Amino acid sequence: MKASQWTVGDFTVTSIVEEEYRRVPPEMLFPSATADDVKRHGWLVPDFADEKGRLILRIQAFVLSGNGRRILVDPCVGNGKRRALPYWNEQTFPFLERFVEAGFSAEGIDTVVHTHLHADHVGWDTRLEGGRWVPTFPRARHLYTARELAWCKLGDNPGTAGVYEDSVAPILAAGLADVVPEDADLGGGLRLEPTTGHTPGHVSLYIESRGERAVITGDAIHHPVQCAEIHLAENGDQEPELARAMRRRLLERAADDKTLFVGTHFPTRPAGRVERSGAAFRFVPVEGRER
Ligand SMILES: [Zn+2]
Ligand SMILES: [Zn+2]
Repeated sequence: MKASQWTVGDFTVTSIVEEEYRRVPPEMLFPSATADDVKRHGWLVPDFADEKGRLILRIQAFVLSGNGRRILVDPCVGNGKRRALPYWNEQTFPFLERFVEAGFSAEGIDTVVHTHLHADHVGWDTRLEGGRWVPTFPRARHLYTARELAWCKLGDNPGTAGVYEDSVAPILAAGLADVVPEDADLGGGLRLEPTTGHTPGHVSLYIESRGERAVITGDAIHHPVQCAEIHLAENGDQEPELARAMRRRLLERAADDKTLFVGTHFPTRPAGRVERSGAAFRFVPVEGRER
């Protein structure tokens, strides 16, 4: 799968795909959803859903490059990790091969940003070498928020079990970790904003460069259907009410500020514009360049 790219001022945003899932019944992701909740929004077909109301979903990381920086955002599930969810367990994804094909090197990454510490956002931070988990990006500062780190360490749900031990602790031990505020200014027009609700210390990443804006959402929103059906709570949402409020605010701001909206789990064409539609929104994808 070729990487796609978008430009935001001085930055390029490149999607590196780990896996794309098709024909996903909506209730697998959103327990209260029905196929009709999807089918009533014809604009979701064919990029984001099929005509039977089944979803397409993607696990991907983004690389931001520009202004001398190379930042990796949410490095996916990873390989060889023991996970409760079968489709994340002991995988052999060709992710690093795609990352290299797209023109990046592990040594070239200077920062890793995590919107949160669910297993599908942190896995490639470490890889197995001689039976030990070692950092994959040896020169990168790995950023965490304090609330997220504490919550992940508990490891008390299927999304975090084992994650701290195999994907976070080796980074702390190597001295590559920085705990940053939830509204951290990362310099060069990049900053975090708290979007708590999905998880306690969840953040989204805003990019502002030469008058252009983008946001990488993380799991404040999982799928474009939630632009129209904002109320749909995802399985992993820790505080669904708070997550809904954050999602609405994120969408309102993106629509008002003409922000390029980059959905962390959005498939096919994951970056686009958010437009108001009745009391909610729709997502209008922007074609990326093939890298
Ligand atoms: Zn998540
Ligand atoms: Zn996720």
